Amino acid sequence: MKKLRHLAAALAMVVSLGIMVCGCSSGGTGGEPSAPSQTVTISKDKELSVHFIDVGQADCILIQTPDKKNILIDAGNRDDSSLIQKYLKNQQVDTLDLMVLTHPHEDHIGSAANIIKTYSPAQICMPDAMSTSQVFEKTLNAIVESKCELLPAKPGTVLLDTGDVRLEVAAPNSDGYDSLNDYSVVTRLSYGSRSFLLTGDAQEISEKEMLDAGAALKSDVLKVGHHGSTTSTSEAFLKAVSPEFAVISCETGNEYGHPHKEILERLEGAGVTILRTDTQGTVIMRTDGKQLGYETLGSQGGSDGASAGNSAQSASESSSQASDSQQAYVGNKNSKVFHTQECDNNMAEKNKVFFDTRQQAVDAGYSPCSRCNP
Ligand SMILES: [Zn+2]
Ligand SMILES: [Zn+2]
Repeated sequence: MKKLRHLAAALAMVVSLGIMVCGCSSGGTGGEPSAPSQTVTISKDKELSVHFIDVGQADCILIQTPDKKNILIDAGNRDDSSLIQKYLKNQQVDTLDLMVLTHPHEDHIGSAANIIKTYSPAQICMPDAMSTSQVFEKTLNAIVESKCELLPAKPGTVLLDTGDVRLEVAAPNSDGYDSLNDYSVVTRLSYGSRSFLLTGDAQEISEKEMLDAGAALKSDVLKVGHHGSTTSTSEAFLKAVSPEFAVISCETGNEYGHPHKEILERLEGAGVTILRTDTQGTVIMRTDGKQLGYETLGSQGGSDGASAGNSAQSASESSSQASDSQQAYVGNKNSKVFHTQECDNNMAEKNKVFFDTRQQAVDAGYSPCSRCNP
């Protein structure tokens, strides 16, 4: 697609309607999947969590900072609205402080309009790119109605700086690309000595521009570009990022063959631990700025219907469990998440804490697992 000069015009319209524009053990290639979790002990008031929500062949990432800021990067496909909202509710998200819409493809802004209406983000960052799709039009309308502040997607723009946690734009570095994917807003999230590079669907051309611009790219976690397609994660880029973990957001059996074998082999060859939403479900990374751990919530086999079935099943299981035994719930001392006893969360015995009732778990400061919905 050609450069879309019209966003300026659209945003001018937005401004005229009253919105401020601010100036300011690897797994994967068919081998064994990575371990379902790597736990670390982090006190809740120091925890930064990054949730790569399993939305099938799409992206949706929730960031929760130690001072309770909620940031959403992308909003899944158009059918993922209730799944995303349910997930946010389980994480006690009432409003969003910031939303980043990486680029106007349906698998990134599909449910954005609904999410914007429900969570009224204070700020939205999106690239200077347009699409004629209905879903993009709906998104723009929701942005206009929300009266949020628009932040520019320019390299060096700091989208969030709490003193500890910083989210900075690394791309796009140009304003004219053939593919909408290259307009992707790439952000680097840093906290203490830990960092995450969140790349949307940025492809090799954008990766090269980031390298040429000398952007800070080295990160512990790489959200692999474009669902693991060979269009992205070039050798030079991977070397510069040099991640310990790579997270791939895609759906089993997707029509594009993502993630591509070549990319999985490239990551494995670089000794990177691969975590995949298609095989492991939602991936949650947690850090206190020093330690870094993760948990995976298990594949739900689809982006919507399957998860609803799963939670209904879990609910009936947990009620029967409650009736014939005490200690129906089990919490993870590290993650402060509680589960039904049946939830297969592969928790280490030493991290388990048991609760007789749901209320006890909630009162102890534990959050419900988004997979088993205890
Ligand atoms: Zn995509
Ligand atoms: Zn895309």
